[in-house]
Amino acid sequence: MKVLLETRELSAGYGQIRALREVSLEVVEGSVTALVGSQGAGKTTLMRALSGLLRHDRGRILFDGRDVGGLPPDRRVALGISLVPEGRLIFPDFTVEQNLRIGGFSARDKTDSNLESMFALFPRLRERRAQRGETLSGGEQQMLALARGLMSEPRLLLLDEPSLGLAPAVARLLFDTVALIRERGVTVLIVEQDIRSTLEIADRAYVMENGRIVMNDEASDLLADDSVRRAYLGM
Ligand code: ATP
Repeated sequence: MKVLLETRELSAGYGQIRALREVSLEVVEGSVTALVGSQGAGKTTLMRALSGLLRHDRGRILFDGRDVGGLPPDRRVALGISLVPEGRLIFPDFTVEQNLRIGGFSARDKTDSNLESMFALFPRLRERRAQRGETLSGGEQQMLALARGLMSEPRLLLLDEPSLGLAPAVARLLFDTVALIRERGVTVLIVEQDIRSTLEIADRAYVMENGRIVMNDEASDLLADDSVRRAYLGM
């Protein structure tokens, strides 16, 4: 078991607000690792710190054994860390294909073949390749955001609330797709409010509260433990 991503006592915040407090976690290569917790727990902040969008104050971020904490976002993408942000954030006026090509900027020589493999994974995007992003349904936009994140050939995909706002059947498809992405060898760290569906596809889960990790365990053990489910997972 190789650890692909590790944070050591990572702290970050916004002015006086301490959003992350000494967060230490490990993401094993080839796994799906879930990050769950109530609103405002610090999950999005952690994703932003990992991708380099937010500077942390203290602690370390190790990716494949290398300290990447001081690198700007584009360098982290080039090393293999890709963020699919909350709220999808696709380019509404660009076509599906243009959105995907933008995601492939760091693996430019392979853009065409990566485009083809995204269309194989998401047939709906192939059908809609010439349509503007804003004409897609919510589920299709999320799939586009996911595919765009994969265009840089990441080793680690950071997914922030991918099922937010999706109808249950579409969300189901999304979780199936995440499992498929893992089968293709991409390591996934996923933040989700649909805790049950996430724990069903995750290997391990970390629970956050008020900027801290308060528990971590095998996802199946967390799901099976009634008291944990009541105390931390609200289910
Ligand atoms: P949610 O599920 O609501 O997205 P979260 O677990 O992702 O919650 P964060 O968004 O990381 O939580 O927020 C952690 C803390 O940081 C919260 O107290 C939040 O109010 C605060 N916070 C987040 N973004 C900012 C910002 N840009 N400026 C100031 N405070 C912020």
